[in-house]
Amino acid sequence: MKYVSTRGLAPELSFEDAMLTGLARDGGLYVPAEIPQMSQAEIAALAGLSYEETAFRVMRPFLGDCFTDEEFRGIIARAYAGFDHRARAPLKQLAPNHFLLELFHGPTLAFKDFAMQLIGQLFQVALERRGERVTIAGATSGDTGSAAMEAFRGLSNVDVFILYPHGRVSEVQRRQMTTPADKNVHALALDGDFDDCQARVKDMFNDFEFRDGVKLAGVNSINIARVLAQVVYYFSSAVSLGAPAREVSFTVPTGNFGDVFAGYIAKQMGLPVKDLVVATNQNDILHRCLSGAGYHKGDTVPSISPSMDIQVSSNFERALYFAYNKDAGAVAQLMEELKSGGFEVSQGAMQALSETYKSGRASEAETLETIKSELAASGELLCPHGAVAVKVAAEQRESEVPMITLATAHPAKFPAAVKEASGLHPALPERMADLFERDERVSQIANDLGAIESHIRKNITE
Ligand SMILES: *Cc1c(COP(=O)(O)O)cnc(C)c1O
Repeated sequence: MKYVSTRGLAPELSFEDAMLTGLARDGGLYVPAEIPQMSQAEIAALAGLSYEETAFRVMRPFLGDCFTDEEFRGIIARAYAGFDHRARAPLKQLAPNHFLLELFHGPTLAFKDFAMQLIGQLFQVALERRGERVTIAGATSGDTGSAAMEAFRGLSNVDVFILYPHGRVSEVQRRQMTTPADKNVHALALDGDFDDCQARVKDMFNDFEFRDGVKLAGVNSINIARVLAQVVYYFSSAVSLGAPAREVSFTVPTGNFGDVFAGYIAKQMGLPVKDLVVATNQNDILHRCLSGAGYHKGDTVPSISPSMDIQVSSNFERALYFAYNKDAGAVAQLMEELKSGGFEVSQGAMQALSETYKSGRASEAETLETIKSELAASGELLCPHGAVAVKVAAEQRESEVPMITLATAHPAKFPAAVKEASGLHPALPERMADLFERDERVSQIANDLGAIESHIRKNITE
């Protein structure tokens, strides 16, 4: 099982090396050279299995011979042991043929735990075996950072530095990043927005002297291991609604395109997915692009669904790679054009994208209104990200195909917006009820590569 870069100029790597590397050295993203197939019988046999066993069967073919079956089963078991729902990703019904996939029962209350907890355990086993240590740098619009810190805190062979946009994450998100006491996790509040954070992390990866010096590794959604971990719940939910005998569609609240791209992989593996609906907030660059208007950067406008406030959606590069029939040269060209503002998508690639993806957007007012109306209709209290998706799903779904809408965060992560919409103050789960009393530890930092790199060099533990 080999992994290749979307830009075609980086070495082919095994799963483990692609995971430890993160961003490819040509600036591209690693993708499987061939997407493994699951037969109808193999998919049907997932019915009724535990989430962990489903995860094993769905991800195993992607790993090649990097981990033994026994190692991998142990990794999966440890990754999901900290979730507080036995089903891990329970499915709830909102309306006839409309279902909500709750992905917020992990330790930091967002779907990112599914991938991050797994990657923490994968890194641990791989690094111990190699006798190596790494420095993980990541950018976050709020949820990735806390999920990464939670997954890696206390591990002996890893330091984690997380850049988040100062003043642009919710208080719960900030506290989840600034309160872990473990010395190997470090929160950096950057003077800038999420795109700045993401750009500085990319710059660090492209500074090879720094990259090699600190043994930089990335666990942002560009990391292929994260994408693959997210493929699992597409299978578990679809199978519980009758796949492979019945088609299903998904609506995914989207920012960096990692989650919805995992749905694409599930579909390519053989899961009968009809539509993948990309739901955006007012930062709707993906919706505009998928509607045929090209990909043109604007300014990010802060919203009540901050984890989707984005202009440069990294994983979209992977979608383009497949839409352009794996033409890495074409992708590299588009990414070059993106540096000066944007690009047009070719007609053939638009055609390919439209075979899989649909899209829609929700304004701030529509998001608030959906939180309120869904509470009245089904009793479900949505977080703003889930609400964006529920609104878009309601517009896009077809009555005969079950729609599964992904609820990516717990409402208690975004209490201000939820309260404004519903009048209810969503309580934090018991295990983090004292979050607001814990001490915070954070370094504010300029939007400057040199400053960030020297801070990291100075603060690596050991
Ligand atoms: C990260 C995140 C998203 C967006 O997911 P992508 O994989 O970046 O598209 C949506 N909702 C929440 C709550 C998130 O944390």
